[in-house]
Amino acid sequence: MPVIINFKICDNAEACNAINVCPTGAFHWNKEKKTLEIDKEKCIDCGLCATSERSCQVGAIRYAKTLEDLERIKEEIDKDPRTISDLQADRYGATPINMPFSCTEEELDSVLTTSKLCMVEVYIEDTIECLIKSIPIKEIMKELGDSVYRKVAVKTEEFKKKYDIKELPSLLFFKEGKLLGKIEGYYTVDQKEELIDKIKNIIGE
Ligand code: SF4
Repeated sequence: MPVIINFKICDNAEACNAINVCPTGAFHWNKEKKTLEIDKEKCIDCGLCATSERSCQVGAIRYAKTLEDLERIKEEIDKDPRTISDLQADRYGATPINMPFSCTEEELDSVLTTSKLCMVEVYIEDTIECLIKSIPIKEIMKELGDSVYRKVAVKTEEFKKKYDIKELPSLLFFKEGKLLGKIEGYYTVDQKEELIDKIKNIIGE
């Protein structure tokens, strides 16, 4: 029975946990098409990509055991009103909440292979701000359309140098792995419109 990816809530990035969980390499990143794919020839129907605790944290990967299951899952995905931004509970500059959207400095390179616009929030513990006063990432992502978000805890000076980051927290915007621009410093909910205007300038809207 097939594995189905609900792309409505999957941000379709190379750094997908299911790739590491899959024992046969069936679940993979297609570099040319820039998408996650399942190789039916290699898949052994173990279901781990959908059920393992170490796999997708947002439930975007589904595994059908029977034909009835398959039809039900397809219908559920068809009717699913959610988008990826509905799952983003994080707030700009505040403590990370939703670990699926966190990644390490090293993991970021593979996330940036996505062809989508990518917004990367970088922070260190010392720059964590008040949760209540912080802007919900979901509200920013709704302005960006189909895009990828990751939150990176900076561990090295090299990382800051690589992107010439002088102030944290910061927002970095990438397309096809190329840095389009960045916004440095914390913005409160009262400054949301100001921040969104700056973002639109960077991404050319
Ligand atoms: S069902 Fe098993 S073999 Fe098939 S893609 Fe998922 S993890 Fe890989």
